[in-house]
Amino acid sequence: MKDTFKHKGLRQKLVNVLKTKGITDINVLNAIGNIPRHLFMDSGFLDHAYQDKAFPIAADQTISQPYTVAFQSELLQVKKGDKVLEIGTGSGYQTAVLCELGAKVFSIERQQELFKKTSNFLPKLGYRAKKLIFGDGYKGLADEAPFDSVIVTAGAPFVPKPLLSQLKIGGRLVIPVGDDVQIMTMFTRKGQKEFSQEEFGEFRFVPLLEDKN
Ligand code: SAH
Repeated sequence: MKDTFKHKGLRQKLVNVLKTKGITDINVLNAIGNIPRHLFMDSGFLDHAYQDKAFPIAADQTISQPYTVAFQSELLQVKKGDKVLEIGTGSGYQTAVLCELGAKVFSIERQQELFKKTSNFLPKLGYRAKKLIFGDGYKGLADEAPFDSVIVTAGAPFVPKPLLSQLKIGGRLVIPVGDDVQIMTMFTRKGQKEFSQEEFGEFRFVPLLEDKN
């Protein structure tokens, strides 16, 4: 678990790449500049950790591309102390970004292998989510609702209703919607039954699957 000057240098370069691609939120850029992404990846990919690319992790899943993580994080506009629900813990990299932004993070993962690995790993780096849950993200987390924001980090074939109903008024759901290709979509809760919807272009994610495994 080493983080060297070389890693820090590569990270700064990655931050600069994200700036040239249009990420402007300084808190998000700082978070990415702080988090040792190489430690979230399997050893075979260490050399690639600071390229702006997605890579395989355990259980046939991927750690999202840094640009995608930054883009979704920017849309959430996290304020310190916000209660944030993440669907798809995976490697825990996005969870770490949310922790760096000062959020109280609740994160759900449906693959037991990843859930165990990441639950064990994140605290070692000092990232303490409020709760990591082994479960089905389609259902959200009614016990802890309402949330300031919800972020889905897998491609959703449709928008799960519980994720909308578990938002505070003024809260945001950022979710990539679609089958092979997804449209990054943000819903803002305007009232009990009113939501506004904005779209932010195409992304590609592994699929949001039903039930746990
Ligand atoms: N945020 C992760 C991205 C991992 S890829 C990271 O930064 O590494 C998407 C993750 O969503 C995978 O780990 C996958 O197992 C998980 N996933 C898919 N469907 C899910 C569901 N219904 N509920 C919870 N997690 C799910």
